[in-house]
Amino acid sequence: MNEAIFDPANQPVAQPTPIPLRELLPWVVFGGLLLLLALYFVGAEQGATSLVPGMYVHEFVHDGRHLLGFPCH
Ligand SMILES: [Zn+2]
Repeated sequence: MNEAIFDPANQPVAQPTPIPLRELLPWVVFGGLLLLLALYFVGAEQGATSLVPGMYVHEFVHDGRHLLGFPCH
């Protein structure tokens, strides 16, 4: 009767490590810029504000435009 009994309650538990804001901030800024770029292409890449000639980008994000409620047609 000296067998070790596995008890999950006695096992070590991994503790979450906080990420310092100084390390997180550049990634937050980078992600925000990517989201702003995506917002531009979905919401404003049309007509006078268009940077890419033609309708390819507009048609590519067309469903997203309607989903987010941007004026379209
Ligand atoms: Zn449309």
